[in-house]
Amino acid sequence: MFEIPLETLMTKKVRCVSPKTKLRDLARLMAANRYSCLVVTEKKVPLGIITERDLVKVLAEYPNEGPLLLNAAELMTSPVTTMHKNSTLLDAIAITRVRKIRHLPVVNITGRIAGLITQSDLIQAYLHILEAQHEVIQRSVAERTRELNDANEHLMALSLEDPLLLIGNRRAMEVDLKHVHYAALRNKTPYSVLLIDIDHFKQYNDHYGHAKGDDILKKVINHIQQSLRKSDRVFRYGGEEFLLLFPDTMLKDAQQLSNKLIKNVHDLKIPHLKSPFKRLTISGGVCYFNPENNTNKPWQEVIKSADLGLYKAKKGGRNRVAISKKQTPRKNAA
Ligand code: GH3
Ligand code: MG
Ligand code: MG
Repeated sequence: MFEIPLETLMTKKVRCVSPKTKLRDLARLMAANRYSCLVVTEKKVPLGIITERDLVKVLAEYPNEGPLLLNAAELMTSPVTTMHKNSTLLDAIAITRVRKIRHLPVVNITGRIAGLITQSDLIQAYLHILEAQHEVIQRSVAERTRELNDANEHLMALSLEDPLLLIGNRRAMEVDLKHVHYAALRNKTPYSVLLIDIDHFKQYNDHYGHAKGDDILKKVINHIQQSLRKSDRVFRYGGEEFLLLFPDTMLKDAQQLSNKLIKNVHDLKIPHLKSPFKRLTISGGVCYFNPENNTNKPWQEVIKSADLGLYKAKKGGRNRVAISKKQTPRKNAA
């Protein structure tokens, strides 16, 4: 970006004077046209430069009227630093800084004057570049942010954890359940699942607010997790439904554990004014998988059976656990 040629930045209208021009004329020229400098040329080749500073300096040094008779050749700073019009902005910035000069005549290949660059031209060009760079950076930051957001969404989809409750999500449940199911078939060991659902939770949200509902979900899940054995796992099945996986567990033990969990939540005494129990309760459906009897039953069927049990528990009055024996499709319990 700093490689811009001076030709595109320079002022082409340069006020040139002959070396013989008298100081009075120089001063009048500068005052009338507000020139900050004049370039002294001979056959268009810069010989020197006269700035406001040069004039002030000479007037200060000569106490009488003598300096008015001086001409441009005697006043000018010479030799003058010039730069070729194909030199770059970076070159010009470097030269003006190193030589501490504010005006830079620009010449063509034959050494003839082509334009003038002042310090303010350089600053303006520099600021313009900084602004352009800022825009490029902002655009690339916005692009990177968009890419990161996309990647995050993708990762979220691939993630196995529920972000609210920090337990395994449905995807994790499928992976784990499949694993336990096939291990059960191989090792001829049974397992059980419990599908639980919070009772009247829509009314809970409606009455206490969704944020409070979230807090209660965390509280109930933390409590359930504390009541489980190390080998048991809990997953968010969806919404306010959770699947508990009890590896190596017979139906009788699973039922006992499930009843204990339902009672524990009831005993938490979380107020729920809109529930007939006046406190928060859960219902559950248990399913037992015995590889000796159910070799052909796929793992999806195990969940379906637990779901039917849950439906039965809801229909039977809630705050309870049930096992389904028949294969009826699930409907919402009234
Ligand atoms: P039932 O006793 O038959 O289960 O009634 P219910 O009201 O619990 O059942 P329903 O399926 O009609 O409503 C479930 C409610 O759970 C609705 C939904 O807003 C709420 N829910 C699901 N996930 C969340 C969550 O992450 N946070 C909160 N606060 N509420 C949730
Ligand atoms: Mg519910
Ligand atoms: Mg539900």
